Amino acid sequence: MSRKKEDTIKHNPLLDLSSLPRFDEITPEQVEPAVDHVLAENRAETEHLIAKDSAPTWESFVQPLEDQEERLNRVWSPIGHLNAVRDSDDLRKAHDACLPKLSAYHTEMGQDPRLFERYKTIAGNKTYERLDVAQKKIIENDLRDFRLSGVELDSDAKQRFKQIEQELSTLSNRFGQHLLDATHAWQLVITDPADLSGLPDSALAVAKQTAEQEELEGWKFTLDAPSYIAFLTYSEHAELRRTMYQAYVTRASELGPHAGQWDNTQLIRDILRLRLEQARLLGFANYAEYSLQIKMAESVEQVISFLTDLAARSHPIAKDELDEVQRFASDEYGVSTVAAWDLPYYSEKLRQTRYAFTQEEVRAYFPLHRVLSGMFAVVNRLYGVDVQQRGNVPTWHPDVAFYEISTSNGEIIGQFYVDLYARPHKRGGAWMDDCVSRKRTDQGVQVPVAYLTCNFSPPVADKSSLLTHDEVLTLFHEFGHGLHHLLTQINYVGVAGINGVAWDAVEVPSQFMENWCWEKEALDLISSHHLTGEPLPQVLLKKMKAAKNFQAAMQMVRQLEFSMFDMRLHSEFDPNGEGTVQQLLDSVREEVAVFIPPEFNRFQNSFSHIFAGGYAAGYYSYKWAEVLSADAFSRFEEEGIFNLQTGRDFKHHILEQGGAREPMELFVAFRGREPEIDALLRHSGLL
Ligand code: ZN
Repeated sequence: MSRKKEDTIKHNPLLDLSSLPRFDEITPEQVEPAVDHVLAENRAETEHLIAKDSAPTWESFVQPLEDQEERLNRVWSPIGHLNAVRDSDDLRKAHDACLPKLSAYHTEMGQDPRLFERYKTIAGNKTYERLDVAQKKIIENDLRDFRLSGVELDSDAKQRFKQIEQELSTLSNRFGQHLLDATHAWQLVITDPADLSGLPDSALAVAKQTAEQEELEGWKFTLDAPSYIAFLTYSEHAELRRTMYQAYVTRASELGPHAGQWDNTQLIRDILRLRLEQARLLGFANYAEYSLQIKMAESVEQVISFLTDLAARSHPIAKDELDEVQRFASDEYGVSTVAAWDLPYYSEKLRQTRYAFTQEEVRAYFPLHRVLSGMFAVVNRLYGVDVQQRGNVPTWHPDVAFYEISTSNGEIIGQFYVDLYARPHKRGGAWMDDCVSRKRTDQGVQVPVAYLTCNFSPPVADKSSLLTHDEVLTLFHEFGHGLHHLLTQINYVGVAGINGVAWDAVEVPSQFMENWCWEKEALDLISSHHLTGEPLPQVLLKKMKAAKNFQAAMQMVRQLEFSMFDMRLHSEFDPNGEGTVQQLLDSVREEVAVFIPPEFNRFQNSFSHIFAGGYAAGYYSYKWAEVLSADAFSRFEEEGIFNLQTGRDFKHHILEQGGAREPMELFVAFRGREPEIDALLRHSGLL
């Protein structure tokens, strides 16, 4: 090893795992050396473990391998996170260079017959019975994952599998980058105030500030969600709404203002082709079957019939909802056909007429600082834990805050970063990710750490950002994921927190938390008018509740359209055949949708959940988990939303258990019976 190389290792903050990541010190040059170093170390240690141990046990074999995997995840987590929230050319290059190495390493481990044999030995010997539930579950999952990584294939097939994994990781990453670049390449700068009519002050203030930051005249609107949604909902200028809509729905495609520049069309086909080949190598008929091996749902048929049933229940209602808004636009505004870029606009007008309030009126009651502190108060009442902000923790941006969760005895049990505002070089959407997982070591418990990321409107000048009620729901949703990761009591990384939780059960704690945003007692804690300090008034809440299921069936069929498209794409679509992805999407829409978007809509090219995220043949998880989360909440409806015992039970049976037991078993332990669909139907106004 050369002097210089040794130096990059010794002083590489990414390799120092004794504290939280040094986000203030990490540079792109450190990325590859750190990853190379930990991969080399892990490989050497694996060889050593195999060589020394003829009678492997949990302690001598599984635990050290778990520790290795964890070490790698801890080095990689800040890199992946920075790549998502502070993208730069250099970081992107360094990050991308690591992807094939990581993929190769994981397949190599998953396909190593010597490791597989030893796991089988451990599962079969006497010491196994002494292990606890979490340890057994880890071994069970690992045995399954060896098979799903192709450990039992012949060597040619193994090699091909490994190659596919590598290509898929690169292609999925590129899909996401195209979308990010396409989203940020486009802007709408307005200089004539006449073109701003209808837009609320909050959107104008952000647009003005965004323009000023770039020394532009006028108001700048972007394809970031808060800006885009506000424009489509409020702008009275139909032509500009159309321009904005068209730019948004053609991102990363062969159409629109940047036609062909970051086109994902070929990537989609390549990804589907590789996924199918991979599934077939393992003996599955299609990728959906393969994907369901690690999910709660049992078969493609079960998922399709679940979605079809919901579609049949919601379709007629959605149709009525659409007719209503069309009639309204025609009667009140003389608009004979409501186009895709008119739909949010006239829907909002109809909602205002029918329920006599505006989203902007509601927003005045949700200054961000109040929502945050109120959310922590809600969690305190439910689970008896305290959340406190802590300063002096290195982060990646001045907007980021750091918090600690402690028990009533003052013991710190979890920590998290909160990064809430949309900005350039930050990926869109909202998500929670893990930074550190809980485990018990000789030195005590390693406290779990999470990242909470959203894309809300940034504050203007020194005023607190005002959240829409939808954004409040998003924040609660992500915090629900966070609590699942942070309140865990499992001592082994592989199934602690969100680790090892079946993908279609992951959305249970998050969707569950959203329910509190509709309850008076909770709203008193999270709302406070930004000028008067008054909590959300009862009259306004009443109107909001009345409006809660406004167009709920239309939203439902949209989610079902995405879920059905994803499932059919990964089960029946032939990526090597004549048919196109667009044709499949059209046929799904024919069956499920009530509003057919214009022909130039290329939704699939920005469907990053399934092409760049983990939701392939798994988008149905949202609806699937909603059955469980709605039914879990119905116990609170019966026993009181702040009932101490119910809160403690949910914490104990669901949040603390991580992936140590099957989700159905956990649900039954909490609810006393298997889930029923009625609560979801009732909450969505479909009963
Ligand atoms: Zn979620």
